Amino acid sequence: MTDFILVGRGLAATTLAHTFKNHNISFKIIGLPTLSNCSLIAAGIWNPIVFKRLTQSWLAHKTIPYLNSFYKDCEERLNKKFVYHRNIIKPFSEEQEKQLWLKKSRNELDHFLGEVVDLKSLSLKNYNVSGEGGIVKQSGNIDVASFINATELFFKEHYITEVFDHSLLEHAPDSVTYKGILAKNIIFCEGHLIKNNPFFSWIPMKPAKGEVLLIESMEIELNNHILNKNGFILQTSSGNFKAGATYEWDDFTDKPTEKGKRELIEKLASLVTCPYTITSQQAGVRPSTLDRRPVIGAHPVYSNVYVFNGLGTKGVMLAPYFANNFVFCYLQNQPLNSDVDVKRYYNLLKRAE
Ligand SMILES: Cc1cc2nc3c(=O)[nH]c(=O)nc-3n(C[C@H](O)[C@H](O)[C@H](O)COP(=O)(O)OP(=O)(O)OC[C@H]3O[C@@H](n4cnc5c(N)ncnc54)[C@H](O)[C@@H]3O)c2cc1C
Repeated sequence: MTDFILVGRGLAATTLAHTFKNHNISFKIIGLPTLSNCSLIAAGIWNPIVFKRLTQSWLAHKTIPYLNSFYKDCEERLNKKFVYHRNIIKPFSEEQEKQLWLKKSRNELDHFLGEVVDLKSLSLKNYNVSGEGGIVKQSGNIDVASFINATELFFKEHYITEVFDHSLLEHAPDSVTYKGILAKNIIFCEGHLIKNNPFFSWIPMKPAKGEVLLIESMEIELNNHILNKNGFILQTSSGNFKAGATYEWDDFTDKPTEKGKRELIEKLASLVTCPYTITSQQAGVRPSTLDRRPVIGAHPVYSNVYVFNGLGTKGVMLAPYFANNFVFCYLQNQPLNSDVDVKRYYNLLKRAE
């Protein structure tokens, strides 16, 4: 009997697969990647700073050291490069912003806020920012699609490519069976499509659609930085650029829109000054929860039916740390971080019944 059936083919399921492997937990993955684009199109940035308030991103002091070693180990396992350590550059729009940066970089945020620089000194080319800016340390991006594709190749005998039909799941106190696969447990990592899952559709999600543009230009030079000004631009592993992103709360399709394109072109105008060619426009739906925290743990009635979801806008930072938290909870009965524990929503299931 296998330990877990994992349902999903995105960042959540992929990260859990590696974490399970690290702890000798056996698994099968059932999923169809084309149902949700979210992980496949993500920019994959991890940023320890929330720029709006110039504060540390939630738990960044723990998630960033963890993600560094986790993704590095995955690169070694998969023999594939997909991690890019890059500084994020935040141009200042006013003197007050610079002063706050300087103050916090000497105090509580000294781990993450780097020096203030004259943007000219960074040798960027054709960027639409001037004056001074701050450098974020310990930031970067992963090529999420490469990570997922390489993982699927590595674990290929574990994968079953199909739509999971919840009505075919047979449940017993110590096991679950799905189309002849017998497992001790099942864990659902379905992103925003959790709304179709009869076990967990009561979890209050607040999905946010996002769009990005892929552009080509020989004239942009970012010198390995990620530029952030009312949006971001970064160089992809193919040498082109990705720019984003939009937020939309009432369209839950993966279809790119004209409105999204216009918004992204406007964002690009505030980032770069030279002509470029749009090679692709992509859209996906971020699985955010109402309280913007992941949602992880066991179903209140079926103790071997689990959920791992709610990665929202920060899957790259949160998934490795909380996959590890989940595994320690499963293997050693250690508590889940109460902010992410699905228990906080148990009362909603009672209300839904
Ligand atoms: C435009 C955009 C930019 C982003 N940029 C960043 C970023 O820079 N940094 C960052 O950290 N995060 C970013 N994100 C967010 C990040 O993509 C998410 O946090 C993360 O990818 C969510 O992963 P997931 O596996 O939970 O969900 P998903 O990626 O949605 O994966 C769910 C998987 O389950 C499958 N599935 C669902 N239901 C079924 C079923 N019934 N049967 C079979 N398969 C099923 C889907 O096909 C999919 O493969 C961005 C998102 C968007 C949209």
